[in-house]
Amino acid sequence: MPPATIGVDLGGTKVLAATVNGDGDVGARVKRPTSTDGPEAVAAAIAEMVRELGGAERIGVGTPGFVDSDGVVGGVPNMVGWDPPVALRTLLREATGIPHIVVDNDVNAGALGEAAHGAAVGYPDALCVFMGTGVGAGLLLDGRLRRGPRGLAGEIGHLVVRAGGRRCGCGGRGHVEAYAGRAGMEGEARRRHAAGEPTALIDIAGDDRMKSSVFAKALDRDDPMAHELLGEAVEAVGAAIATAVMLVDVSVVVIGGGVADKLGPHLVARVGAAAAGLLGGGLAVPVVPAALGDDAGVVGAALLARGA
Ligand SMILES: [Zn+2]
Repeated sequence: MPPATIGVDLGGTKVLAATVNGDGDVGARVKRPTSTDGPEAVAAAIAEMVRELGGAERIGVGTPGFVDSDGVVGGVPNMVGWDPPVALRTLLREATGIPHIVVDNDVNAGALGEAAHGAAVGYPDALCVFMGTGVGAGLLLDGRLRRGPRGLAGEIGHLVVRAGGRRCGCGGRGHVEAYAGRAGMEGEARRRHAAGEPTALIDIAGDDRMKSSVFAKALDRDDPMAHELLGEAVEAVGAAIATAVMLVDVSVVVIGGGVADKLGPHLVARVGAAAAGLLGGGLAVPVVPAALGDDAGVVGAALLARGA
């Protein structure tokens, strides 16, 4: 008999698929680099991973991009070879032969995972922020994920924190992601280095992608640029959280994602302090580290498949 539910966390660099039981416990898992040959190849790879896990009755998938209720994905700049709109649910049904498939945004899936089985348990109103290549958030209000008519709810990466500021990957200026997304921080480090400013970030990363661990190492070496970039990231996310808290009133803010995982609870505490400083008047909310790490996406995706 196939395992009931498989959760899939589809990212720009890797895909994680795992069996997840009704208590949110993760069983067997398979991890692969993401195919760069377009959505059909990605769907075929996921189908193979599902077979490796012994098949499934239902599958939940978290993917980058805005996702409509038919599982059609739009706006996915960090998926190589994708030309949105991509009918991902249809492709996955064809590739797997499994009809019961739910597709949603990866950050929404991660937020659902943290809400049901992680750091936001017990808080019906929560903002779960994920700091990685970009910055996104899932918003839970009255215990339910708020998506919004266009799937934009919680997209705090594109809140403006500095009018006319640094260029964001989306084309806008002064957005949170330009300061606090790993890609935005790397872009700024490379620009400043090219203009003659030395930094351990480039010494460590060379021409490779400047991963979160590179920032961690440069901070250990007390690199001034790494400290400055991280300070700006903390300030940007803190400002976005303060804005979000005043707009929708949540009781807890959870911070996860690759950058937060690598830089640890100290980063989360600094973000919390920045947000508290901006909120003032005793309005600060607890800002806590995510609890599920890399598993938040697959756990949340499985919940989506179960109808969360
Ligand atoms: Zn933006």
